[in-house]
Amino acid sequence: MSQGPLCGVLGWPVAHSRSPAIQNAAFEAAGLGWRYVKLPVRPELLAETVRALPASGYRGVNVTIPHKLDALRLADAASAAASAIGAANTLSFADGRIDADNTDAGGLLDALERPVAGLRALVLGAGGAARAAVWALNDAGASEVAVWNRTAERAEALARELGATAVERPGTADLLVNATSVGLDPGLAGDDALSSLGLLGSEPPALVADLVYRADGAPTPVAGWAARGGAAVVDGLEILVRQGARSFSLWTGLPAPVETMRAAAGPR
Ligand code: NAP
Repeated sequence: MSQGPLCGVLGWPVAHSRSPAIQNAAFEAAGLGWRYVKLPVRPELLAETVRALPASGYRGVNVTIPHKLDALRLADAASAAASAIGAANTLSFADGRIDADNTDAGGLLDALERPVAGLRALVLGAGGAARAAVWALNDAGASEVAVWNRTAERAEALARELGATAVERPGTADLLVNATSVGLDPGLAGDDALSSLGLLGSEPPALVADLVYRADGAPTPVAGWAARGGAAVVDGLEILVRQGARSFSLWTGLPAPVETMRAAAGPR
């Protein structure tokens, strides 16, 4: 039996990933006979695995922890987003080339569903997700991008490199993006979680995006705080769906069936 084109998600571990459910639903809705699989790959095997994928029927892969930096180095060409962020979450295989992109950046903007031009943004965090958020917000014309991080030196380095302003404590903004991992571990919850981000006792801005999402679909501390304060909230699953939608379009050249992908993303 001949097998249709393949895509997948490379990570270590990847057992928890929701991308196969999201992408397989999209392939089916688009009437493509493509399949998307989990590819658990140890870091030391990443390069040889990626190089073998095109000849094994793969059109592209998503890349997750801990491979996003190495994936960019392996590529023959990279988008402006992936180069500036310094990490790739999507590789596309065509014409014997490996192209790297970072759809976390555009996926965040898509999930916000409103222009950010002229808004004052505050990003919490200084890891890979924060780098993608800062780059995306600057690229989309935010009037100011402030960065706060628990380890201040990391915020300062990120701000210098990507053209943002490091701040000593989270201040006022029109848009807040939580790009820390606070909320992922149910052990750090409620006021303790808000306090670890310097948000306890403060009012949320009108628009809050939380990149974190929980396996059980439960609201995260930042999303709960934002909703209680009357903010419009964009949750981590929506951002996951929108980055996946961009990856789908890069591989297939088709518009992504976003509604189908959202429904397949799981409980929320
Ligand atoms: P990362 O590189 O490990 O960075 C983690 C960040 O969280 C760092 O800035 C760290 O601060 C901060 N942090 C961790 N524990 C903290 C605490 N107790 N108090 C205050 N700050 C704390 O992770 P990442 O790859 O950037 O990802 C961040 C989050 O975004 C993860 O939860 C990930 O699942 C999520 N994400 C979601 C999507 C999506 O599509 N929804 C996409 C990408 C990432 P220090 O520098 O001080 O350690």
